[in-house]
Amino acid sequence: MKAQPKASHFIAGRFVEDDAGEPIDVIYPATGELIARVHAATPAIVAQAVEAARDAQPGWARLKPVERGRILRKASDLLRARNEELSRLETLDTGKPIQETRVADAASAADCLEYFAGAVAAFNGEHVELGGGSFGYTRREALGVCVGIGAWNYPIQVAGWKSAPALAMGNAFIFKPSENTPLSALALAEIYAEAGLPAGLFNVVQGTREAGAALVSHPDVAKVSLTGSVPTGRKVMGLAGSLMKHATMELGGKSPLIVFDDADVEDAVSGAMLGNFYSAGQVCSNGTRVFIQKGIRDRFLDRLVERTKKIRLGDPLDDDAQMGPLISRAQHDTVLGYIETGRKEGATLLAGGGVPRLQGLESGFFVEPTVFSDVTDAMTIAREEIFGPVMSVLSFDGEDEVVARANDTEFGLSAGVFTKDIARAHRVIGAIKAGTCWINTYNLTPVELPFGGFKASGIGRENALDALRHYSQVKSVYVETGSVQSPY
Ligand code: NAD
Repeated sequence: MKAQPKASHFIAGRFVEDDAGEPIDVIYPATGELIARVHAATPAIVAQAVEAARDAQPGWARLKPVERGRILRKASDLLRARNEELSRLETLDTGKPIQETRVADAASAADCLEYFAGAVAAFNGEHVELGGGSFGYTRREALGVCVGIGAWNYPIQVAGWKSAPALAMGNAFIFKPSENTPLSALALAEIYAEAGLPAGLFNVVQGTREAGAALVSHPDVAKVSLTGSVPTGRKVMGLAGSLMKHATMELGGKSPLIVFDDADVEDAVSGAMLGNFYSAGQVCSNGTRVFIQKGIRDRFLDRLVERTKKIRLGDPLDDDAQMGPLISRAQHDTVLGYIETGRKEGATLLAGGGVPRLQGLESGFFVEPTVFSDVTDAMTIAREEIFGPVMSVLSFDGEDEVVARANDTEFGLSAGVFTKDIARAHRVIGAIKAGTCWINTYNLTPVELPFGGFKASGIGRENALDALRHYSQVKSVYVETGSVQSPY
């Protein structure tokens, strides 16, 4: 199985190679097989990408927003037309089951491009009355060259979510995918080019933290948008801050999912499973602290364990596989380490907890979907982001108690509540300190709603009109229609 791209980087409308960069092996996580090799960007590649973006941006920003939107719209159509091939590529790169990548990856990027293609023309400044015939207005202007740095879990989705609002607003974009998943961003670059995006406006460079930091520090780069962990976010935000650059941070979480006694048990179990096992648990917004009110606890756990044990693990390229492996050997070992810690700290293991035996996939990075109950707030598995298929179930008595415990974390990305009492649902969500919340569902992230975190989980928002705000800056213009009042 090979998925070798034409070259490592895409700059100024064409594939570019520089063998002097450190080699990066691309591994199919289900088998451990080498499927491609790319090279990290050298300083020369970083310089080329920034120069291409800087040169292309002013002409692009001068186009009418509908003209820019038309190209995004074409690219969105191409993403949809090629969904099957892109889904396969994403499955090879990430190990996520094809039944997920078909609906959640290129398709989500396509939605995003389509949304911003139309939305940008309606996103304008304001007219402000200043009295005496004078007035002011504001202009929303592009920032210039923007950089996106991606995580491994939703590579093409992240590239789309970042580049679409940036390009719609008239910026040029450089994307550095995670070193674990370098492939699909190159496919997106080809699609943008085919849709008619002028050369230099969407560039892809590969690499690890060095390439990321080199891009952020480049004097011609105006903004960085990172999707990654909190520790990386602190570094990248610190670097951007020291250079007074714009920054959006989409970081990790340890989100609460609260199930009240009156909730529909099947729906609550579905929400908890979606919020812990989708993408083998490698989702930033996952509801990994599942708080269950005592009256529904036993019924919830019975159904949860029964349904968890039926999850089909297998080769992610098989239509039937419902769960694939983790991204890498390192992540696999980290997750198993957390499971061991959960056991040692006294949580009760109800399902999973080990490595499944899967014929022909013995070298893959699989971990069983795992459920712990009797988890307490102080346990490591209830405090740290695991980023694997490990659900912690905690019990609670009352509303005030659960809200206080749910908020007792440095993170604030997401939260969910399951209840039939609508007043309580809105009251609880209103009291939770998190940026992206759900009532009676979990983990749906349509482009029409802003996505992002409170507290250590991030700054800025992706999707919706908020994203256009974060990829632009405001210019205020005061227009005097009378004579200038002067004391001199
Ligand atoms: P990571 O933080 O290890 O890496 C993210 C990206 O940052 C990679 O491309 C990496 O090469 C780059 N990077 C690392 N150090 C850097 C530095 N010092 N300067 C510049 N770039 C640097 O994250 P990951 O392990 O790839 O992804 C998992 C994490 O991402 C989890 O914490 C998860 O919650 C988070 N995540 C957040 C969202 C969100 O939207 N909030 C979405 C997906 C994943």
